[in-house]
Amino acid sequence: MKVQGIEYRELAEQFGTPLYVYDAEVLTEAITGLRDALHPAIEVFFSLKSNPNISVYHTLKAGGARAEVSSLVELRTAVLAGTPAHDIIFLGPGKSERELVACLEEGIYAIVVESFAELDRIEELAGERGVRQRVLLRVNPAVAVQGSRLTMGGKPRQFGIDEAEVLAAGDLAAKYRHADVAGVHVYMGTRILDAEVVGKNTRYILDLAERVVNATGIRLDAVDIGGGLGVAYFDGEEDIDPKSVAEVLNPMLEEFASHRPGTRLIMESGRFLAGRAGVYVLGVRYVKESMGERFAVADGGTHHHMAAVGIGSFVKRNFPAVALDHDGEPDEGELEPWNVTGPLCTPNDTLLKHALLPQLRPGDLIGVTRSGAYGPSASPGNFLSHGFPAEVLVTGGRAHLVRDRDQPEDLLRPQHLLDPTTVTTPGK
Ligand SMILES: *Cc1c(COP(=O)(O)O)cnc(C)c1O
Repeated sequence: MKVQGIEYRELAEQFGTPLYVYDAEVLTEAITGLRDALHPAIEVFFSLKSNPNISVYHTLKAGGARAEVSSLVELRTAVLAGTPAHDIIFLGPGKSERELVACLEEGIYAIVVESFAELDRIEELAGERGVRQRVLLRVNPAVAVQGSRLTMGGKPRQFGIDEAEVLAAGDLAAKYRHADVAGVHVYMGTRILDAEVVGKNTRYILDLAERVVNATGIRLDAVDIGGGLGVAYFDGEEDIDPKSVAEVLNPMLEEFASHRPGTRLIMESGRFLAGRAGVYVLGVRYVKESMGERFAVADGGTHHHMAAVGIGSFVKRNFPAVALDHDGEPDEGELEPWNVTGPLCTPNDTLLKHALLPQLRPGDLIGVTRSGAYGPSASPGNFLSHGFPAEVLVTGGRAHLVRDRDQPEDLLRPQHLLDPTTVTTPGK
């Protein structure tokens, strides 16, 4: 199998395995396909938490994505990639003072506040610096819209401020001098595969924004409608289609934009933009049988791809996977059920269970596809001190190393060996 004309085998030889390979064409297609389909008033912000690699983000940015960040390093990543401050928003439930100050210093477009206590803190910090910082109120909606794999609304959450509390907060426009409360953010959930659900969420959020304005007197510089567009991983699923999303969304966005021409409309997306662009490439080390089942023990595992464990689902469902040494679809008759496991000392280190693959031998390459989102950065890469894998971005038919593989020195460097002779025991 190839990516932009390059054999995965060649990439494995050049960069080693386990390896993440990202295809810039797929990234670009994802962002431009979404932007071309959706109403031009909507701006798509990439959620860097789904894939914080700076070159991955830079590729999406070139296709028109802006940055939604949730940590100091993600903020710096966005800035280093050349994102104008106007196109950065920062959200997350437990922002540190250092992070908030960095937002103020960069002068980012907006901090999304998740509690009134945080709003007070921003008021203080911005006041000390004599600046004004736009903030969007993250609202925890009173209802949940069905159809997302992780619903956010209608539940006690650490995220956002309860809808009822926001609506009862009184005059928020006048209350703060340095925190410029001027917008609403709602995130309803993730892995949404049904355009109708996106439509219902968005309808609710646009209406809620108007209710917040009426109740609190804030300006509406921006409404962030969240996102959570999904991609297919498992049998029976299909990617959400930007065209069907556009069919339900565009009329609402048109109506909203003509009524409020000065308001930015923001959509956030992580998985939909990056998910399909990544392949986790593993090399088979050993092949064995146990009690009648075949095992391919590979050099990579769930410490780089926790999503493949299928947390929260009772029955393990496999991510899509292919034998990369084969060209095209193998014949049905060639396929056998394989357990593909990794180097960790836990039975949970099973990437694929009873996956149908052609016969595997040591040295063969397996690709776990659709792995461009929530891969290494969302996985316990330091378990058993293996560290994180190299990452390669293929662009313009050429492969570029965009993250070094962790080396033993990298993992040992932050540790300190205590010399027992210098440790004093209390009372002695
Ligand atoms: C995680 C997250 C996203 C990205 O979600 P995807 O499902 O990857 O698109 C967007 N917004 C918020 C607030 C998030 O927490």
